[in-house]
Amino acid sequence: TRLRPHSPSPPPMQSAPLRLAVIGAGAAGLAAARELRREGHAPVVFERAAAVGGTWLYAPPATSSDPLGAAATHSSLYASLRTNLPRESMGFLDFPFSAAAPGSADPRRFPGHEEVLRYLEAFARRFDLLRLVRFETEVLRVRREGRGKWEVTSRKLGDKGSGQEEVYDAVVVCNGHYTEPRIAVIPGVDAWPGKQMHSHNYRVPEPFLDQVVIIIGAAASADDISRDIASTAKEVHIADRSAPVCTCVKQPGYDNLWLHSMIDRAEEDGSVVFQDGSSIKADVIMHCTGYLYDFPFLGDDSTITVDDNCVDPLYKHVFPPEVAPQLSFIGLPWKVIPFPLFELQSKWVAGVLSGRIVLPSKEEMMEDVKAFYSKLEARGWPKRYTHNFSNYQFEYDDWLAEQCSHPPIEEWRKQMYAINGINKAIRPESYRDEWDDDHLVAEANEDFKKYL
Ligand code: FAD
Repeated sequence: TRLRPHSPSPPPMQSAPLRLAVIGAGAAGLAAARELRREGHAPVVFERAAAVGGTWLYAPPATSSDPLGAAATHSSLYASLRTNLPRESMGFLDFPFSAAAPGSADPRRFPGHEEVLRYLEAFARRFDLLRLVRFETEVLRVRREGRGKWEVTSRKLGDKGSGQEEVYDAVVVCNGHYTEPRIAVIPGVDAWPGKQMHSHNYRVPEPFLDQVVIIIGAAASADDISRDIASTAKEVHIADRSAPVCTCVKQPGYDNLWLHSMIDRAEEDGSVVFQDGSSIKADVIMHCTGYLYDFPFLGDDSTITVDDNCVDPLYKHVFPPEVAPQLSFIGLPWKVIPFPLFELQSKWVAGVLSGRIVLPSKEEMMEDVKAFYSKLEARGWPKRYTHNFSNYQFEYDDWLAEQCSHPPIEEWRKQMYAINGINKAIRPESYRDEWDDDHLVAEANEDFKKYL
């Protein structure tokens, strides 16, 4: 990307203020709204829910009629959820997620989910974002109009009819990617008599009292939910597709929690057979198998498609080259510290929209996308890992920061993220309460003084 010369403070906006639609008022939508308005634009934020917070708006255990589906329940949070990142690292760059901040009610370093919601609410209030949000208003359709503009059709909850149509100069998509469940394929499961559900619909362990539960998955939610359910269930068996075929290991500290290789098949008599041939009669299969990107409001004219969880083509995971910068996506990367990344992506989008930051040509952007895919292929990564940033999130963040004449991510934040990963591997049970990086906490808190 070609940049105008760096200057200590952002130069004035080049274009007239734009009327922008932001879809979603989770962390990404709030970050986008703030940066777009800072740049002098006029964002309207559409939010299906009645409040800001997105993922962090816990929905009580009511749950859906389809325990495998995306459901009416809004968020994927379970009651016991505490953050899996230390709070100092998790917050926006200039709005610390500090226990010392006004409004904090859970001082733990890895607080419960309610504290994250309080933090996002405080962010929205501090930057006066609430009045930009149209609550209980769902975006139904986004279509390209003449002159590079976009027609957005939205409908207020409870309204009948086809919705309200409005034209915007550009659309920033911040709809999150933790609500559309990805389900594991299990041969024979249709005839299997037990109950299946997705972690999206898991809330509390009590319904699993004395049951035998199989958890599929090996990521954060499988880790947390298997331990949560082990507190009430008779037995919990984790099926991990990356575990060697002969795996059958009782987990340290538990009498009723085992790790296995992946499920081979399910049978009519209630058995679930693992790849090593061993089998267990189970009551429940819980799919902790992640989520799918889904943009039901976009049409072909968005120029993107989603295949095997790859949103294609996107320049730097944000702009579809053909329609950039009038359409953009904030928050697609995973295996990251989300909020700072959302913030930097949003600054970039805001600067590009006002013409302060210049994108390469369409052809150059497409070349960049192709070069990125070649790198993934050379690494042997499957397509579904296109937006998995486990190896280069900070490189990406710093690239974005450079585009925006913003300082790079702080060294303490980078180190804290790495050390937390190691601590979690060493102390999977207790990493949220025991750590060895107090020196980084002190450094972060010192840094935060300029914002608090
Ligand atoms: P979301 O929070 O999902 O927000 C999207 C918003 O868009 C929602 O409010 C939704 O209602 C709205 N929306 C969607 N479609 C429409 C539409 N058509 N019209 C109008 N509105 C619409 N991150 C961390 O930093 N630390 C953690 O410890 C952590 N733990 C997590 C645990 C779980 C179980 C999950 C699922 C995620 C966790 N995350 C964590 C990641 C978390 O998702 C991000 O931190 C962040 O909240 C994502 O924000 P978002 O705005 O991209 O998406």
